[in-house]
Amino acid sequence: MIGLSLERVSHAFDGPDVVRRVSVAVDAGEVACLLGPSGCGKTTLLRLAAGLEYLQRGRIAIGGRVVADGEAGLHTPPEDRRVGLMFQDYALFPHLTVYDNIAFGLSDRLRKRRRWVRVALDRVGLADVASSYPHTLSGGQQQRTALLRALAPEPEVLLLDEPFSGLDVTRRASVREQTLGLLRESGIATLIVCHDPEEAMFMADHLLVMDAGEIIQHGAPAEIYLHPANAFVAALFGPLNRLDALVRGGRVDTPLGGFDAPGLAEGTAARVLIRPEGLAVGPAANGAAVTVVSARLLGRSSHLRLAVSGIDEPLQALVPGVFLPEPGTPVSADANRAHSFVFAAE
Ligand code: ATP
Repeated sequence: MIGLSLERVSHAFDGPDVVRRVSVAVDAGEVACLLGPSGCGKTTLLRLAAGLEYLQRGRIAIGGRVVADGEAGLHTPPEDRRVGLMFQDYALFPHLTVYDNIAFGLSDRLRKRRRWVRVALDRVGLADVASSYPHTLSGGQQQRTALLRALAPEPEVLLLDEPFSGLDVTRRASVREQTLGLLRESGIATLIVCHDPEEAMFMADHLLVMDAGEIIQHGAPAEIYLHPANAFVAALFGPLNRLDALVRGGRVDTPLGGFDAPGLAEGTAARVLIRPEGLAVGPAANGAAVTVVSARLLGRSSHLRLAVSGIDEPLQALVPGVFLPEPGTPVSADANRAHSFVFAAE
């Protein structure tokens, strides 16, 4: 069943459209993530779904019920949409305890959910701080309180705007995992605005890539990472090595070997994009075409800059573990074709 559906939604503030003909469907129990650069319209889309902005064009339905129709002038207020909202600053009520923050939205009709609050507090490790006030909590505890508050009234749709941005790196992984567990259990449709591609990859069943107000690619995270529709989508996941060459006989030849160039006409100026993690670096004899410029340990991986004869800029390689050859060391560099993409040069 579709929990949240947006059909051909467009929106403008005072100038041109900042959201253009966006259609999104999130099934009950599914987590969808909006990923895109700053200012591309992600938050606006979330606010339209929540009812915090009036819909100008298109239609929005929640649990099969149309809650906004731009053309018909229908606008259901946020409190009647059965949406749970959580913004990056959490917006907890400072004068209420953790328990009261979470139970705040529970009307008499939802009295039975008070038991759920107790169980959920225990489940996410907040039982001991149920009577504490928000300012005494850690960032992770505040995040979980805000999440439970959004979930307490049994919404059909949960809308999260950068839900992990306030957390430090070490805490993020466990909070993300716990959040995902809660979302799966609750079986609601969740739409998350993400800045961080790794976070979006981790959380999403369905990834929606936005640029300049439009959804330019959507699908399973692995599908998008491995088969980006264009250079912009490929570059969302991190820096890329770029090699330029002309298409000859359906291929492009580069100092790192030949790459298939499907769909590109003979003679087209093409650009090969290779992810740093897609370069396999190994030992090589003296006189090899590739030598190490620098090597630095990042923690879980080592970052290498490689000089390749025939290429002006050094290439970047990301090698798992500790691999720190001296500058000047000759090496081999093989581009994994699953992490290499060929597009027409812009
Ligand atoms: P970020 O990742 O930085 O939060 P975003 O993708 O969420 O960005 P939005 O906040 O949706 O982007 O903004 C989309 C565009 O709409 C931007 O150009 C922004 O300046 C503009 N915008 C957003 N809110 C308003 C507003 N209330 N009035 C006028 N313009 C706005």
